[in-house]
Amino acid sequence: MAPVLTARAFPRHPGVSGWVAMLSPRVPAQALDGRQTADVVVIGAGFAGLAAARRMFQLDPSLRILMLEAGQVGEGPAGRNSGFIIDLPHEVSADSLGSDQADHARRDIFNNRTALALVQDMAEEQGWGTEIFNPCGRYSIARGAKGDHHLQEYAAQLTALGEAHRLLSSAETAALTGSSAFSAALYTPGTALIQPAAFVRACADALQARRLRLHEQSPVRRITRQGAGWQVETAQGQVATGRVVLAVNGHAQSFGLLPGRLMHVFTYASLTRPFDPRRLGGARDWAATPALPMGTTLRRIAGADGDRLLVRSRYSYNPGLTVGEGALRRAGQLHDRKLASRFPALAGVGMDHRWGGAMALTWNSVPVVEEVEPGLWLAAGCNGVGATNATANGIVAGERALGVLSALGRDYAAAPPPKRIPPEPFATIGGKVALGWKEWRAGDE
Ligand SMILES: Cc1cc2nc3c(=O)[nH]c(=O)nc-3n(C[C@H](O)[C@H](O)[C@H](O)COP(=O)(O)OP(=O)(O)OC[C@H]3O[C@@H](n4cnc5c(N)ncnc54)[C@H](O)[C@@H]3O)c2cc1C
Repeated sequence: MAPVLTARAFPRHPGVSGWVAMLSPRVPAQALDGRQTADVVVIGAGFAGLAAARRMFQLDPSLRILMLEAGQVGEGPAGRNSGFIIDLPHEVSADSLGSDQADHARRDIFNNRTALALVQDMAEEQGWGTEIFNPCGRYSIARGAKGDHHLQEYAAQLTALGEAHRLLSSAETAALTGSSAFSAALYTPGTALIQPAAFVRACADALQARRLRLHEQSPVRRITRQGAGWQVETAQGQVATGRVVLAVNGHAQSFGLLPGRLMHVFTYASLTRPFDPRRLGGARDWAATPALPMGTTLRRIAGADGDRLLVRSRYSYNPGLTVGEGALRRAGQLHDRKLASRFPALAGVGMDHRWGGAMALTWNSVPVVEEVEPGLWLAAGCNGVGATNATANGIVAGERALGVLSALGRDYAAAPPPKRIPPEPFATIGGKVALGWKEWRAGDE
């Protein structure tokens, strides 16, 4: 029998992302209608799908690529994150760096920088301003002794790896943030910051200029083997294609793929109303991830109508790939408390937008790029930092779909398969307990 993949669920993104709200409205590309043909169909306009299309055009500019996105470009997780494209390993162990760990870290850095290079190349080619893509580096920020210790350990590991960095004292951190609520910070220059929704829109526009045929509001319902190729179906249309890149991250599960291999975690953000920059000293544009991995991300954004602060915090385990209003509300209340304790000078400013978004993790933190059927490539498993990881996934998926094996692809090929997670209800119980414990360990960081 011909293989058929049927989607059992479609993405639903909680809340309206502040990044989209800050942009002018955009007319979405037409939904797929009628019968079409393509050399490759890319499903999903997130980091992975966009990177796959970009890489395939680099390898073969004559390729007829058609992209199908369930919602509107920039409204999915790739357009609603905190906007850090991080070049260094995100989570470091607080132990000293053994030689195995050093090799692992160097491989991660190579993969991350390969992803970043693809994006940087597009930014330069398209002449994007820093309001879309800003290679300005990032801070990791601490609130107390635990965070300080972690930053010092991380700095020592970066020294061992030969990576540039600078530790900031509490006074320097106060000068940066305009607040005395932080004890230290660590600056690393290699991260790029994006306005995520503007970035995703700009990528899609750049690819359309290269003849990408983009269809938005076109959730794929079924993928069916047709002769040597595939037929991809939406409610109103069908595309006959030689190859498919399924770049839907956790929604691989909705197509019945990677059963028992993906853990679905949502995280949440709130964005303040614009405030008069004179209310808060410090720099007007900076971004900081927490010293401890499960802590709070902060980002100050200067705008024509005033500055805003983004607060990202809280994780929830959601195997059904949806979250309710209650989860968004509780995360919002936490964000309000985080803002008040860190920036008392902003009392009364309040939040304008609150939202959440889905991420897919594998238990052993490996990415998944595999040919699930001949000519059908899957890119999934962003492992929480998809701006880099999913971009790399997309590059490898695009290359492999065209039969190319690069150094990045070889590294992927050498990675172990994703480990099976425990059966339900143990996976959910374990997932919730693990997240709760890690958040508790992060304390007020
Ligand atoms: C609040 C928040 C902050 C974050 N901050 C960061 C950060 O600073 N840095 C970082 O690296 N990561 C961050 N992340 C994680 C990051 O956003 C994800 O890892 C990343 O978006 C994953 O990229 P992706 O391309 O694999 O998947 P996605 O971005 O989820 O893209 C998949 C696309 O597939 C589409 N799709 C799904 N099913 C179908 C279907 N049936 N038919 C058609 N289309 C379909 C979806 O609509 C979606 O647009 C954050 C996430 C959130 C929610």
